[in-house]
Amino acid sequence: MSDMIDAFRSLKDYKRVKRLIWGVPCPVCREKLPKANAKILEPGQLCRAHKPFYRDPRPEPTDTEFDARMAAHGWGAGL
Ligand SMILES: [Zn+2]
Repeated sequence: MSDMIDAFRSLKDYKRVKRLIWGVPCPVCREKLPKANAKILEPGQLCRAHKPFYRDPRPEPTDTEFDARMAAHGWGAGL
């Protein structure tokens, strides 16, 4: 994974894109806090905006899945 980060201008860019691709709005936020912006959760991330907390049930993407998704969005290592 570390060599992949080098392909991005900065770690900040990398995190932004990762969130863009994998992030989904917390379903509990949407249900309980409809007026607030739902927290964007990445796989396995915990939302603490309410109780009980909600953890995104998706497993962390494997490096292969990650690379494929990033490439599909034009963020392949070739850039
Ligand atoms: Zn939430």
